[in-house]
Amino acid sequence: MENAKPYNIFEMAQKQFDRIADMLDLDQPSREFLRIPMREYQFSLPVTLDNGDVLILRGYHVQFNDSRGPTKGGVRFHPQETVDTIRALGMWMTWKCAVTNLPLGGGSSGVACDPHSLSPMEVERICRGFVRRLAPITGPETDVLGPDIMTGPQQMLWMLDEYEAIKGKKQPGFITGKPIHHAGSKGRKEAPGYGVMITVREALRDRGIPVENTKASIQGFGTVGKHAAQLYSQMGGMITSVACWNQEDHTAYTFRKKDGINFDQLASISNPFGEIDKVKAEESGFERLSGDAWLSQDVDILVPAALENQIRMDNVDRISAQVKIIAEAANGPTDPDVDSIINEREILLIPDILANSGGVICSYFEQVQSNLNYFWSKDEVLSKIDSIMTSAYIDSSNFARKNNLNLRDAVYMLAVDRVARACHERGWV
Ligand code: NAD
Repeated sequence: MENAKPYNIFEMAQKQFDRIADMLDLDQPSREFLRIPMREYQFSLPVTLDNGDVLILRGYHVQFNDSRGPTKGGVRFHPQETVDTIRALGMWMTWKCAVTNLPLGGGSSGVACDPHSLSPMEVERICRGFVRRLAPITGPETDVLGPDIMTGPQQMLWMLDEYEAIKGKKQPGFITGKPIHHAGSKGRKEAPGYGVMITVREALRDRGIPVENTKASIQGFGTVGKHAAQLYSQMGGMITSVACWNQEDHTAYTFRKKDGINFDQLASISNPFGEIDKVKAEESGFERLSGDAWLSQDVDILVPAALENQIRMDNVDRISAQVKIIAEAANGPTDPDVDSIINEREILLIPDILANSGGVICSYFEQVQSNLNYFWSKDEVLSKIDSIMTSAYIDSSNFARKNNLNLRDAVYMLAVDRVARACHERGWV
């Protein structure tokens, strides 16, 4: 039997790019240049395990495009890491930085490894070995690293320490996502979730709907979902349901209060992984529904803030007629095939590369603060994020209206056009 071709995330990202390139009528050299990384590195990474064995890992680093500034991207540690995932993430990061007008290009890195089966000292050796390979081609002025799946503040600090040892000087702008007391930025935790609700606030303003008259249903109560819920509540909106994963039962649940959820109370019965305690929730009057019930609620705003591929052909019909906005807080939560149905229903979809860009904006601010060795208050960081995201939303929305486009196409066209122009102006293509 012939095997079906495996799903390739980079081919999907290229297909998306080709469509936008057609819409922009981009010249052939620019298309060829922008659909593949400018530079990529693949290397072997030997790591000595605690028992003395040596493991040979594979590392990947992609500088997708640096026409608008130093490349910026996360470092993932994942057993199924492939160079194509890293290429796709580098391409999306290029568009994300361009749509928010950050002076940065896009990149991404990864090591194929499983941190769950490694000791902290083994992970530290991977971090240091990874930086030894990349030190000659990265740096605060060329290529800035940051955290992604299964890497966090501790890994960022080990990487920085190795980089500074190699360079013989302090260079905190080399990497972002560091602990706050080691040149990290205040506001990093809140940034992606708050950013989502800043775009929702602007979308409601655009449509003349007071936020106090709206209800929302959110999938996910982790870093992004929880802070999105917090800002939305502070703005006066009413959250009626939140879905999350339950580790003990190996299933997801939706917790609902039709007359409105109190954010602080819900936060007090959740853990740092974004799991809501089902017993305490039921004791405090929540209904416990199936994991996918968040999607079919009679609300004005849906916020998928958990996983990719959550709104698909098989469930898009379950979205209530009341829904006016879908804010893609997660990366890739909507199957591209359902975009046309969402458009026909006149639901405004705020695409992920705009909606969740608060995280990368805060990383950019961390880099700026680190380079200056001068650190801002949390309010200053968050208000600067608000101003960048508000401008990005207004620019995208005006462009969509003027050209009769949906917001996803508008955002991608603006981003690709900005990068193509930068390459052209530099005389590259
Ligand atoms: P997280 O791990 O902190 O939280 C994930 C949440 O999703 C948890 O509440 C978990 O219980 C819930 N969840 C998991 N599986 C579920 C399921 N089947 N049904 C319902 N809920 C489920 O993750 P996060 O950092 O909040 O990231 C969420 C999404 O946002 C991801 O797509 C991520 O790539 C994207 N994102 C994150 C950041 C960031 O800085 N953290 C920035 C931009 C985008």
